Amino acid sequence: MEIKHLRSPQTEDILPDHWYNIVPDLPEPLPPMKKPNGEDVKPEELIAIFPKKLIEQEFSTERFIKIPDELLSLYLELGRPTPLFRARRLEEFLDTPARIYYKYEGVLPTGSHKINTAIAQAYFNMLEGTKRLTTETGAGQWGSALALAGALFGLKVRVYMVRASYDQKPYRRILMQIYGAEVIPSPSPYTKSGREILERDPNHPGSLGIAISEAIEDAVTNPGTKYSLGSVLNHVLLHQTIIGLEAIKQFELIGEELPDIVIGCVGGGSNFAGLAYPFYYEEIVRGKKKSVKIIAVEPKAVPSMTRGIYTYDYGDTARLTPMLKMYTVGHRYTPPPIHAGGLRYHGVAPTLALLVKNNIVKPVAYHQTEVFRAAQLFAQMEGIVPAPESAHAVKAVIDEAIRAREEREKKVIIFNLSGHGLLDLAGYQEYLENRLRDYEPEKIDLSYLNTY
Ligand SMILES: *Cc1c(COP(=O)(O)O)cnc(C)c1O
Repeated sequence: MEIKHLRSPQTEDILPDHWYNIVPDLPEPLPPMKKPNGEDVKPEELIAIFPKKLIEQEFSTERFIKIPDELLSLYLELGRPTPLFRARRLEEFLDTPARIYYKYEGVLPTGSHKINTAIAQAYFNMLEGTKRLTTETGAGQWGSALALAGALFGLKVRVYMVRASYDQKPYRRILMQIYGAEVIPSPSPYTKSGREILERDPNHPGSLGIAISEAIEDAVTNPGTKYSLGSVLNHVLLHQTIIGLEAIKQFELIGEELPDIVIGCVGGGSNFAGLAYPFYYEEIVRGKKKSVKIIAVEPKAVPSMTRGIYTYDYGDTARLTPMLKMYTVGHRYTPPPIHAGGLRYHGVAPTLALLVKNNIVKPVAYHQTEVFRAAQLFAQMEGIVPAPESAHAVKAVIDEAIRAREEREKKVIIFNLSGHGLLDLAGYQEYLENRLRDYEPEKIDLSYLNTY
């Protein structure tokens, strides 16, 4: 089949009017969130941190959830539907019979997919009278998305930013400040969990787990304040499914068959789920394709799916969050300083973990040097400099395209190019100067985790 368009049409009618919730279509029931005493978390127990509407989505077992009209028009204004590209030059370079497509989320204002859930979370908070949102951020993609969403809906935003990134990556901090957010290096003196860490080590570099603890503590102790999370939870993944739902319509429009291989990188799992879950529904649940390979890519430095265990663990270092059943390298794990800051998280989304456990999603892990090499090739072929996170997906795509060449199979591949790397050039510089280090933990201490 000859496809004329390198880029699919991007008309308004491609936007779906609902999000897709995978929960009712999982191969087994989703294990509930638990409290430390082993009891299930009840929805009303989350009211101190989330607005009711988001809690409802978090626990929902409805397959489709309507996108409010106000959000739909905002999605349009911000640049959705995002383009679906075919990576022709990369195909030719690799001499592969595979057809490689990618959904490009980097065209959105903060440069990644994170705004898709940020505006939804800010919107539902605004409806219920929230005045102020707190959150954490690593490299700053999530923080800048929520900062913009707060500006659009008139909410104050405070971002606890991992100290190491705050010092080393000023550009996204500045972006958050442009949008009007307050950015605090974490650990900070503003919270009990932050103070405890600073007392032991005033120069602590921070971690996502610590920043989450601080943001939650801030939300529950200040009136009118709620907390926002950028990944992992069901409602966050739900909002991201707009990516895959658009892609399915775009495939239809260009007359392409459903993909044989779907690929995304995984930090907490939101961009991966956003692309892959709607294809899971079309191809597996509705049975429209005999076989589809779904690949989740993570860094070898933080190998939750490939080397972690499937168990209940906390989402943060101070153990303030409920426990989630997931693949985890443990909440005490200190992720090495890889450039893909968005992938430095010890766990993954519970729905994704369940799919991995059931062999529906196949996890793979790469070192950052091979990932940057793949990203450079992609930039030279396609023009877009991938975010270091997204570059993990690019590396897996290249490996699959080469496999297709060796096996002479005309595979259709789609991946999520979750963001651009124009604010991550320091990582590229280290790569170009051969100064990049690869990290692979020898042993991961999982002994303190329970195994139920
Ligand atoms: C945050 C981020 C990720 C990782 O988070 P997920 O929730 O796993 O998607 C991946 N890519 C980009 C560009 C990001 O900003």
